[in-house]
Amino acid sequence: MYWAQPDNLPTSGIREILDIALQMSGAIRLETGEPNFPPDPAVIDAFYEAARGGHNRYTSSWGILPLREALADKIRTVNHVIRSPEEILVTPGGSPGLFLAFLGTLGAGDQVLVPNPGWPDYLGGIRALHLDPIFYPLPAPQFWPDLSVLQELVTPRTRAIVVNFPGNPAGSIPPRTVIEALVEFAHTHDLWIISDEVYDQIVYTDTVLSPAQLAPERTISVYSFSKTYAMTGWRLGYVALPWPYSESLNRIAMGLWSSVAEPLQYAGLTALKTGAQGITTRLEHYRRRRDLALNLLNSYQIPCHRPDGAFYLLVDISRTGMRSRDFALQLLQQEKVAVAPGSAFGSMTDHYVRISLASSEEDLTQGLTILAQVLQNPISLAPRR
Ligand code: PMP
Repeated sequence: MYWAQPDNLPTSGIREILDIALQMSGAIRLETGEPNFPPDPAVIDAFYEAARGGHNRYTSSWGILPLREALADKIRTVNHVIRSPEEILVTPGGSPGLFLAFLGTLGAGDQVLVPNPGWPDYLGGIRALHLDPIFYPLPAPQFWPDLSVLQELVTPRTRAIVVNFPGNPAGSIPPRTVIEALVEFAHTHDLWIISDEVYDQIVYTDTVLSPAQLAPERTISVYSFSKTYAMTGWRLGYVALPWPYSESLNRIAMGLWSSVAEPLQYAGLTALKTGAQGITTRLEHYRRRRDLALNLLNSYQIPCHRPDGAFYLLVDISRTGMRSRDFALQLLQQEKVAVAPGSAFGSMTDHYVRISLASSEEDLTQGLTILAQVLQNPISLAPRR
């Protein structure tokens, strides 16, 4: 039988570790980026009330108007970008928002610039659509794009660039000058900027410049409730882009999910209206965990990257001489500590592992202490022959 999909659909290097960890009893889980907080009680109540109150039907494929109006307010006040409700589409999470952005801006055989290191799940959609990912480096120690390298990677088939700040896995936020240069670059080559901003409200500094502030006409911003409101399992996100491109994405969305679950949209509205305190509280936890992790690793003199946003931390494992996947597998099997191998995010981070600050403080302290001790004595993990 004919099967249309490319045979290089990626598997996830994070999933591989997660699946083994799930089979183990007592594994310390630092590999997945999932807040260990429940959603706010008011948000859960709003879902129930909406469902009990009869909000159980298809809605407009755009999403309900009050939610899109509240999202326009949020994008204005948090991201400093003016978007009308007609330029905002509610989606079942950030991932489908990204997929829509790829569908809208790229056709078979087109090239899209993708960050290395970057979130691995961009690649599923890109490969399934027969697009050509071109990886651009975010070099250590800062993990900001190198514009001179980007220039060399562009071809007449390049249509879009994916950017992700604060980024997964490094949590980096480039300064204004770098974002300005990126936008200028996109302008020169007439590229769409697909800006993955799912961590836009998990920021430890006070400045994160959205490309949409500088180039609203060529930016598709992808947002999510998952991380901001600890609602990963609820599947709620939104994209913002200029009219009439928004209308075109809406027509695609219609055939994909018709509309996002109606009670969920009301819950999202409540999150936007009442969730500010919860965001601040969770952010304080992440910041404390980040500082705890940095202090702990420093005390063992283990090099690592200090994130300015998101809730991940890259730990340098070069002293082991091991590839990150081998290291992560051995660490899990011998010490029952699950970390994400840097190779899951691309070739640039094969000498790092990523730990998630969304894990509990207790797990973080215990897991990082074991990791640091192993890194101090790497021979204990040398691959068995
Ligand atoms: N982008 C990045 C960088 C992510 O880390 C994630 C989730 N891990 C997403 C997008 C997708 O998030 P969701 O689909 O839950 O909104």
